[in-house]
Amino acid sequence: MTRKLIALWCLFLSVMGIAQLYKPIDTADYTQRKAFLIKFTGNNEATIKKIKSQYSGKTLSELSKIYKDFGTDFEKQVKNKDFIFKSDFETSIQSLIQRLKKNNPQVPQDLKILIAKDNTPNAYCLADGTFVINMGLYGWLNNEEEIAAVISHELGHKIEDHSFKTFLKIIEQDNLDKITVQNIKSTTEKRSQSQNQKAFDIFKNTIYKKGVERRQNEMQADSLGYVIFRNSDFKKGEYVNALQKLEDFDTISPRALKIETYKKLFDLPKQAFNDKWMKKEDFSLYNYNFYKEKLNKDSLSSHPEMSRRIDQLKKTFTELKTSVTPEKPSDLFVTLKKVARMEALPNYFHSEDYGLGIYAAMQFLQDEEEEKYYKSWLGKCFSKIYEARKNYNLNRYLDRIEPKNQSESYQQFLNFMWNLSLDEIKNIADFYKTNETIAKAN
Ligand SMILES: [Zn+2]
Repeated sequence: MTRKLIALWCLFLSVMGIAQLYKPIDTADYTQRKAFLIKFTGNNEATIKKIKSQYSGKTLSELSKIYKDFGTDFEKQVKNKDFIFKSDFETSIQSLIQRLKKNNPQVPQDLKILIAKDNTPNAYCLADGTFVINMGLYGWLNNEEEIAAVISHELGHKIEDHSFKTFLKIIEQDNLDKITVQNIKSTTEKRSQSQNQKAFDIFKNTIYKKGVERRQNEMQADSLGYVIFRNSDFKKGEYVNALQKLEDFDTISPRALKIETYKKLFDLPKQAFNDKWMKKEDFSLYNYNFYKEKLNKDSLSSHPEMSRRIDQLKKTFTELKTSVTPEKPSDLFVTLKKVARMEALPNYFHSEDYGLGIYAAMQFLQDEEEEKYYKSWLGKCFSKIYEARKNYNLNRYLDRIEPKNQSESYQQFLNFMWNLSLDEIKNIADFYKTNETIAKAN
């Protein structure tokens, strides 16, 4: 009887163990990656060939340089395993695209999907119809409808061929400006103040125009994307919900870290917590009051452009004026959202953002989420920070403090990290690495 009970108890424990330990997505998908690269390289070459048949001279040489550079760069990303092949994310996106295609013949037929190991909620479409979807979209948005909204917007860009048109304009604009600036230069040897001003105005104007053009492109993609979205069976208001949700996004999560969290995580048996670690750098050189208002809002990035875009959409499509509550997500979406959340640390680690990784792991641990998992990532990231510090290249992996651009909480975190000595970092890394082995043994 007792033996049976023990056996049952062991079984129970092992099942619990399996349920608790999340295994990050495997990126050992060599065959799919190779197949993708062959296809991608072929497609990119075909794009360049097509450009050659339509353009000549400087425009041709600059355009083909852009696409060649892009091809090389993208190939590097694929080889670096920045994307995952064959996952449930792909299944989900495929079904959304099927729904979008239904009443929209303008949607290209040959769309391919690539999921990026990137925590920012973003998507883009390559010249050959490859859709890159960041995992972060699943981590940030509320449901499939909102993901479909983002895809629709990107389809808008793709159908209007915005990236190609922008490249063309930049090339033409640059040529034009060089000519104008040269003319000004050649008129007089000694340039007067007003002539200097004139050259500067031309320069400013170019940037401004690019800004305006970009905004116009975004609004065009919004409208066209919405029409695609509306034509299929999605709830209309979710389109605005998606844009609104994206407007609220910050690259660095605004969840503030409490001092107690530092004390809880870094008061170690062999190394007591030291209050000096929390000492803040003196930034009296900065005009602090000037930034005060900005700093008070923990979310520092403001997106006035997005609210203007939403207003514009509501003006064009009056049915969007009434807001709707986000739909309840499907089970698949909920599962994928959890996966995207669990992949956040592997993703930071992959992109070598060890500082951001530690910050995020501390936020998860503050909320008492998946402790073993996040403590093991804390160990991994601190080991990398230790190596970097030892090799004098910590700057590459840990941000410097910039009072005007960072939240109070993130600045406090950076102060803490930069205050730690090499030995102290090693002790933390060793402690949490041991923690990792314990987690594995369990
Ligand atoms: Zn866009």
